[in-house]
Amino acid sequence: MSTSDGSVVSVTKVGDNGPPDQRWNLVLMGDGYQSGQLDQFHTDASTFCTAFFATKPFDALRTAINVFRVDVSSTDSGADDPTSCGGQNVGSGDVKATYFDSTFCYDGKIRRLLSCKTDTARAVADDKTPHYDQILVIVNSATYGGSGGPVGTTSTGDSNWPTIAIHEMGHSAFGLADEYEYYSGCDSGETNRNTHDSTEPTQPNVTVNKDAATLKWKDLTTTAQIPTSTNGDCSKCDPRSTSPVAAGTVGAFEGAHYFHCGAYRPEWDCIMRTRTPPFCAVCRDVISRKLTPYSPSSIGDAGASDYPSSDSSSSDDSSSSSDSSSSDDSSSSDSSSSDDSSSSSSDSSSSDDSSSSDDSSSSDDSSSSDDSSSSDDSSSSDDSSTRKRR
Ligand SMILES: [Zn+2]
Repeated sequence: MSTSDGSVVSVTKVGDNGPPDQRWNLVLMGDGYQSGQLDQFHTDASTFCTAFFATKPFDALRTAINVFRVDVSSTDSGADDPTSCGGQNVGSGDVKATYFDSTFCYDGKIRRLLSCKTDTARAVADDKTPHYDQILVIVNSATYGGSGGPVGTTSTGDSNWPTIAIHEMGHSAFGLADEYEYYSGCDSGETNRNTHDSTEPTQPNVTVNKDAATLKWKDLTTTAQIPTSTNGDCSKCDPRSTSPVAAGTVGAFEGAHYFHCGAYRPEWDCIMRTRTPPFCAVCRDVISRKLTPYSPSSIGDAGASDYPSSDSSSSDDSSSSSDSSSSDDSSSSDSSSSDDSSSSSSDSSSSDDSSSSDDSSSSDDSSSSDDSSSSDDSSSSDDSSTRKRR
């Protein structure tokens, strides 16, 4: 229910690529891990890092990024899962006492919308990792869920959870939009997703503009054919399962930002469309522009790069060994400092996961909250980079 339901145990810099005030700092926190389950959290954090650093462009930008793992123990294992959600009795009814009070059905509508007390997460990060740029809370639950608000949240309940979490970070850390062309699902029967309105989305990876000369990503296009594909029946998703042009072609593909028609995405596929890597070229460019200033070569120093070599499996070893030996590096063991800001600042996290399973009905307002969370987020991260780089 609150910070009285657990404690902050330690902080470990599991990916050390230089001084925190000069790098982009990702903080991984666990919720719903009992003290005897922190080894599992270490494994889960390592699994995420392996997937994250195998995904372009993070692989090439590794030296710009530090990763901190904050071990937080909770009284109970798991997360709240209200029985009734969106008018349906779909949850298990679990009520769990966890430090960040993670819950499914965070918005009262969609079970898989998993979030937590983000103010508490930020308070812990402020205290333990003051130069943090992005927080991802990993929730120890076998139920599928996540969200991409200012604080990313993911459960470990899906075999692809690390890549889903990377998709969420596309929203949280880089202000990217969902590129898929439905809200509840292509087969959901939804009738309000036919044609996007004429308002240009603020995000860099979706557009309603099909003019090649002024396209947002015109410098990256690899085809003169704009739009590159169109959807012949706007009452439903484009039925083609494979790209009509060569993979990797950057153009303008119709069907994006929750609509079958009238909005365009840069490539046929992208992790922001399918939750399967890679990011498309436009999304990679957005991420690279943001992270490159933090890389040692940009800064001109000789930052360390002792994040686990090339072998992903070693990340686990290195993190656990640093644990056992040097938990003093993790300086902190008090949980007191994270004030019980159980206040409700809900980050109205993006409901994009909502669309990942096609069963639930969802409402339009959550799509707008997605937008707002992405923009919140980019502004907040901008703040942090401003703070650092001045
Ligand atoms: Zn993309």
